[in-house]
Amino acid sequence: MAEIAASPPDWSHVHFDVHCARCGEDLFGRAEAVCPTCDLAFDWDEAVPLEALRCGTCDYPLYRLTQERCPECGEAFAWDDVVTNYRQRDKRVFEYRWREQPVRSWWASWRAAVRPETFWTRAKLYDPTPVGALVGLVISTTVLSIALTSCFMLLCYCVFAAVSDAWSFYLRFSVATVSRIVFESTWRLGALETVALASMMLYRQSMQRGRLRNGHIVRIWAYSVGLLVPVYVFVGQMVLFAAGFVGRQFALPNLWSSTLAQAVPVALFGVCAVHVAWSVRCGFGDYLKMPHAWGVAIATVVMTCLATVMVFVLHVWF
Ligand SMILES: [Zn+2]
Ligand SMILES: [Zn+2]
Repeated sequence: MAEIAASPPDWSHVHFDVHCARCGEDLFGRAEAVCPTCDLAFDWDEAVPLEALRCGTCDYPLYRLTQERCPECGEAFAWDDVVTNYRQRDKRVFEYRWREQPVRSWWASWRAAVRPETFWTRAKLYDPTPVGALVGLVISTTVLSIALTSCFMLLCYCVFAAVSDAWSFYLRFSVATVSRIVFESTWRLGALETVALASMMLYRQSMQRGRLRNGHIVRIWAYSVGLLVPVYVFVGQMVLFAAGFVGRQFALPNLWSSTLAQAVPVALFGVCAVHVAWSVRCGFGDYLKMPHAWGVAIATVVMTCLATVMVFVLHVWF
C-alpha cells in the first residue's frame, strides 16, 4: 500500500464535498486519514487532490482560487465538475466516454470485463460511478448480443432458403423462430440481470461494518454479470443454432444435435459462473478492499442462480 499522507488539507481552500471513497461518509474538516465508519485508511492527497485540479479549458491550476471562474481564460466552472473530470481524466471506459466515443468506449469496457483481475487492480475507489451510464452499458450489451444472435440466425436461414426449394417456407419459419428467440432472450436476460443486481444489493445490506456506496455495487454488477452473461448466452445460442443447422443440412443423425444441445449449455454455464464469480471476487477484494471477497462472490452467484431459477419456475406456473 502507498505511504499514507498524514497531513489533512487546508480545509479553507476546499470548496467541494469530501466523502469516504468506499462508504460515502462525510470527511469534510477531519484530521485522521481513516474513515470512522468503514475503517478505510486513505491518503489525503488522493481524497482531496487540491493541487491537481485544473481548468478544463486552459489547464490553469485552480488551487487557492476563491471564485468559480478561471482567471486565465475567464471560463466559469463548478468545483464538483472539476473534481469529477480529474478523477476520470485518463480512463477510456464506457461510463465516462459514452457521449464522445460510444463504440470505442464500449469495447474498452468489455475488454476490461473479460480480464477482471487487471481492471479491478487498476480501478480506484475514487473513480466516479455514474449509475445511469453503467445501467446503459448493461442494456446496450444485452441488446447487442440479442441483435447479433438474431442476425446470425436470419443469415443461417437465408443460406438454408437459398439452397433449398422451399425458400418461402423457411423465410416465414425464420421470422417466427427469430422473433420468439428475441422475446425469450430479452425477458430471460433482463430477469437474470435484475435478480443479480438485487442479490448484490441485498448482500450489501447484510454487511455489518461494510457500508458501501451503491455506485460501487452497480459498477461491480455491470462489469461482472452485465458484460459477461449476455456474451456467453450469445455464444451458446450461436453454437447450438449452427450445430442444428449443420445437422439438418448434412442430414446428420439426431444424436449430433441432441448431444451438443446438452453439452454446450452445461459447459458454458460452468465457465460463465466461474468467470462471473472471479470478477465479483476481484471487484470486492482488489477494488473495494473488502475482506471475504470470495465468500461474497460465491454467495452472489449462488443467490443469482437460485433466484433466477425461481423467477423462471414462477413464469412457467403463472
Ligand atoms: Zn468509509
Ligand atoms: Zn481556464
